[in-house]
Amino acid sequence: MPEQIADDVVVTIEYILRNAGGEILDQSEGDDLLTYLHGHQNIVAGLEAALAGKRVGDVLKVAVPPEDGYGLRDPDGVRQLERSAFPPDANLAPGDQFTAELEDDEFVPLYVIAVDEEFVHVDLNHPLAGETLHFEVKVVELRDALANELAHGHPHGRHGHDHHHH
Ligand code: ZN
Repeated sequence: MPEQIADDVVVTIEYILRNAGGEILDQSEGDDLLTYLHGHQNIVAGLEAALAGKRVGDVLKVAVPPEDGYGLRDPDGVRQLERSAFPPDANLAPGDQFTAELEDDEFVPLYVIAVDEEFVHVDLNHPLAGETLHFEVKVVELRDALANELAHGHPHGRHGHDHHHH
């Protein structure tokens, strides 16, 4: 088992994420911890960098600026799309995330911010863009990645047993 966090190590952490105002935005709950593959951009860059070299039991507080988190907010990212561009049975609600294909075969995530009769209002910015992310993290477990996890660039669960299809 790896002694400390380095590239290609599967890391399991407990975490709490707060915004600058101290409001909890996200957290691991109970046994539902976050497992990621270090060095493969599974988590925001600023948090990944802060975890390098840490050991099981280490607790850290990290403030991640937007540039190392979900990016700066682009005011041009808010768009309105014709409701008719979506399947009629699509159940669109604020907070939904989906992927749209632009003209140049580029795929981008979109976040629904509002829906009305005629338009779906979306934001290309991640909901946490522009936010400084305040993480409190405890390192729970480290293990070596399996070959197929390295090939995929992500872990298959805390213990490497989770099955999925690509
Ligand atoms: Zn996989």
